[in-house]
Amino acid sequence: MSIQINSEEFQVTEHFLQYVQIDTQSDPYSESFPSTEKQKNLAKLLLKQLLELGIKDAELDEHGYVFATIPSNTNKKIPTICFCAHMDTSPDCSGLDVKPLIHKNYQGADIILPDDPKQILRESEHPDLAKQYGNDIITASGTTLLGADNKAGLAAIMDAARLLLNHPEIKHGDIRILFTPDEEVGRGVEKLDMKKLAADFGYTVDGETLGSIENETFSADEVIIRIQGISVHPGFAKDTMLNALKVAGQLLDSLPKDRLSPETTSEREGFIHPVAIQGTVEEATLHFIIRDFDDNKLRDHETELRNLTETIVSGYPGCTYEFIVHEQYRNMKNVLKDFPQVTEIGIEAMERLHINPILRSIRGGTDGSRLSFMGLPCPNIFAGEHAFHGKQEWVSVQDMQKAVLTIMMISKIWEEKS
Ligand SMILES: [Zn+2]
Repeated sequence: MSIQINSEEFQVTEHFLQYVQIDTQSDPYSESFPSTEKQKNLAKLLLKQLLELGIKDAELDEHGYVFATIPSNTNKKIPTICFCAHMDTSPDCSGLDVKPLIHKNYQGADIILPDDPKQILRESEHPDLAKQYGNDIITASGTTLLGADNKAGLAAIMDAARLLLNHPEIKHGDIRILFTPDEEVGRGVEKLDMKKLAADFGYTVDGETLGSIENETFSADEVIIRIQGISVHPGFAKDTMLNALKVAGQLLDSLPKDRLSPETTSEREGFIHPVAIQGTVEEATLHFIIRDFDDNKLRDHETELRNLTETIVSGYPGCTYEFIVHEQYRNMKNVLKDFPQVTEIGIEAMERLHINPILRSIRGGTDGSRLSFMGLPCPNIFAGEHAFHGKQEWVSVQDMQKAVLTIMMISKIWEEKS
């Protein structure tokens, strides 16, 4: 059974165009929560729109999370399903004064962004454009990101909420809506009250290509290596100085060059990746991120890095080091494997809508990986966003409409199967 929605009923594009014009860039160096106060400008608009839909319990809490419930319209006992999207945009690219442009009926020609004509979307560099012939592509104007990551998800959830309320013939249980700040700086669920959320299963709507559904993320640790040298006046340093900077440099140089790095791996391969270094002669601190889909391999990578550090530092008698591991997040498959129906219903929803489901793993993390371990098994479904975190970011109107339908269909299938 399908869902009958006329194309003129959708408002997802109008919502999207409105949301991207509100600057919600998050800040990795901020210690406040949310990391930037301006994210609440969008949160307030979303709250207002939810209240206007007649959702009485819509709420914006003091941390910037937006919650709302689309109440069940049957007497059946159905698990409460949450749909989640994040409000912030990446710190990597400006999100100020975004001017969204709609390029109607894409037919393969280069899309030149007018405010910086060097920014050109070519099909050769954006292969997914080949699937968009006849569709309407939305981009920014060349000087900012677009913010489809994840405002396409916000817009899809908002429109699905409105349509579910307008179509009581589509039966569903309680649907919880959750909009989070600070996903892009890895703190999206830090202050989230899971009791208040009170959902059984969830879906983040933050995926790329039409049909993609992701039930695996990396497992992720941070490693900090602090190398202690010996600082002496350089005029009197013979046989006594131990330069921590040089030891750090040698350690970096000794990392594997043809494997175990982001630039030499793909698919299911993990890596050891230095991301920052600070130091003086006396002390140097190296920051690494370690990634793998398999927790045992993650530990193997850490052991390899630890052994390498030991070998290099032991070549400098008197030099010492600390090796500190912080867990960041874990592969959500560890949780989702015990709740296969969550992913299966996502796939079935797409099949019923004649969307080809693409089950993938994410070489990264999502709010969903953390939510899964906080008790809300939560795969990620497509929102249609592409080339995110940059000036050539794009999304199509038609993919966003299909995301709306997918959210509605998932809600309906959970009702049917309960
Ligand atoms: Zn995102």
